[in-house]
Amino acid sequence: MSIEITILGCGSSSGVPAIGNYWGKCNPDNPKNKRLRCSILIKTKKLTILVDSTPDLRQQLLSANVKRLDGVLITHTHSDHINGIDDFRCLNLLMKKDINLYANKDIISKIREKFGYVFESLVPEANGFYYKPCLIPNEISGLFKIKDLEIMSFEQNHGFTNSTGFRIKNFAYCTDVFDFDDNALGNLKNLDLWIVDCLRFEPHKCHAHYEKVMQWIGDLKPKKTVFTHMNYDIDYDYIKSIAPRNCMPAYDGLILKV
Ligand SMILES: [Zn+2]
Ligand SMILES: [Zn+2]
Repeated sequence: MSIEITILGCGSSSGVPAIGNYWGKCNPDNPKNKRLRCSILIKTKKLTILVDSTPDLRQQLLSANVKRLDGVLITHTHSDHINGIDDFRCLNLLMKKDINLYANKDIISKIREKFGYVFESLVPEANGFYYKPCLIPNEISGLFKIKDLEIMSFEQNHGFTNSTGFRIKNFAYCTDVFDFDDNALGNLKNLDLWIVDCLRFEPHKCHAHYEKVMQWIGDLKPKKTVFTHMNYDIDYDYIKSIAPRNCMPAYDGLILKV
């Protein structure tokens, strides 16, 4: 079974350019430097799964022509990964059903605090009309399944909080990560494709920077690595020119197959 992954967004929390038309070190003439907030779409023969609901969700689902989802995985509740949650209402209207959301216990309770209405049922008077987004919380821990697809989830150190990494077969997605514990590292062996946080070249307290990612690659030896969650200090052509041959920066709209 093959998996197709679409990069819906590979930008940091501000996106690139940041408000103010700030491009930092990025060449504004290269469309690959234009980055929406960080998200991917995972497709198998039967399933379409979204990871995170960014503030750019509407634009991302339009570009990828998404009309239904079999599930949404949430890595953590920082606003650049969750604040698009209201846009699921349009998919509820199209699908005529609630959408399954998968996240660990802590993330589900944080979503409940911020956006409690998404987990509430429609009032009976609505007669099934989705006047608000409706999501079904599915609490995950370690290995879980969406229909017949097995997904491994594991905790990552994201500086002052934790985030969740996901592995499906020989593909893993690790955004918003500062460090991995032994359990996480155990889940990152023998990868064919690894999409990983690479915020910038300078070290950061909550995110991996380029040198750290290179060290991980040296230890874990994934066949191919794609950098994501890049800020305006990472120019596409520059990082591509210095990265090893089996590594590349993501760009919005990039489709990868494993
Ligand atoms: Zn983020
Ligand atoms: Zn974050």
